[in-house]
Amino acid sequence: MIAPHFHSVILQPTTLCNLNCSYCYLPVHERKTRTEMPIEVAQALAAGIDTQNMSEAVDVVWHGGEPLTTRRKHFRDLVEAFEPLRRESRIRHCVQTNATLIDDAWCDFFTQYDFRVGVSIDGPAAANLSRVDWSNRPASSRVERGISHLRAHGIDFTAICVVTAQTITHPHTLLDFFEGLGAKSVGFNIEELEGANDTRQHIDPAHVRRFWHTMFDRIDNGSTLRVREADRLLGYLADVRSGRKDRWETALLDPIPTIGTNGDVVVLSPELLGVKNAHYDDFVLGNVLSEQLPTILTRAPHTTYVREHLDGVHQCRRTCEFFTFCQGGQASNKYFETGRFTTTETTYCRNAKQELVRALGEKMGV
Ligand code: SF4
Repeated sequence: MIAPHFHSVILQPTTLCNLNCSYCYLPVHERKTRTEMPIEVAQALAAGIDTQNMSEAVDVVWHGGEPLTTRRKHFRDLVEAFEPLRRESRIRHCVQTNATLIDDAWCDFFTQYDFRVGVSIDGPAAANLSRVDWSNRPASSRVERGISHLRAHGIDFTAICVVTAQTITHPHTLLDFFEGLGAKSVGFNIEELEGANDTRQHIDPAHVRRFWHTMFDRIDNGSTLRVREADRLLGYLADVRSGRKDRWETALLDPIPTIGTNGDVVVLSPELLGVKNAHYDDFVLGNVLSEQLPTILTRAPHTTYVREHLDGVHQCRRTCEFFTFCQGGQASNKYFETGRFTTTETTYCRNAKQELVRALGEKMGV
């Protein structure tokens, strides 16, 4: 059930973040400390990717902390470790950033290394209030300034928006904003309870369904905004209609390896990186400074938490009518919501998958 190869690898170039978003799942002490990935870790990872025989490019996703708090010269050295692979189109760089630090120099950097840029922004200023700095000042104007630099340099970007209990009831406000932003697409993450974020306000599933229903209405009425969740569901239905449902039924789970600043490897969910749990060996399968990543990943199917997650996915397959579309949910959500992996339904899957499908079904009258 778990793929022997990976299509993307997530790297943490630094633990530091210049913001203190109220829903962040990372522990505060980590986000306040600058621990940068040594060049040797990037070099070891590149050597591991080099041994993987893939027809498609691997996405090397720089994630944080806030990746752009990494000193630029150091970030360049990290990225340079992948240059032989990038020049052969065997990897491509992606970065997920809060955009507050984007300036002309970062734009030149993105252009030089052909980065795909993802920006985290939750909507207009009034909807973006969870994104604040360490002095509790809103980040909105700094995010929009960063985005204006991207636009000025002609750099395409996508957006990720966390929808909170405060914004879920304002779908038109968010959709209007993202239609005008100029992003290639937006992904809506209904706020999740995970990691350090475990005390936030509950979101009513009826509001979630109304949100998705409004989104489908606007797409139906000609909105040109690309929404990740709609693309995925409509893509699934197109495959079902054209007799290609087996693609979804036989899909293997991508291990999605995540590499910490020190080279430690966790799989399935980047949110598990840095989480302490002696029973699961802190979710670490190995370290790229000691072994190549593909070798480390051969252990994944035999690792306790991966086996338990696969058991949970198997339970989903047997019991859930949404399984073929959903593929069994996210390991981190199951763990953080219930304390275990061998389980099925979570708030995350109800909001992100089930209510999405129900909203489209309701709209279509089925
Ligand atoms: S929707 Fe939930 S219960 Fe159903 S397959 Fe997905 S994770 Fe499992």
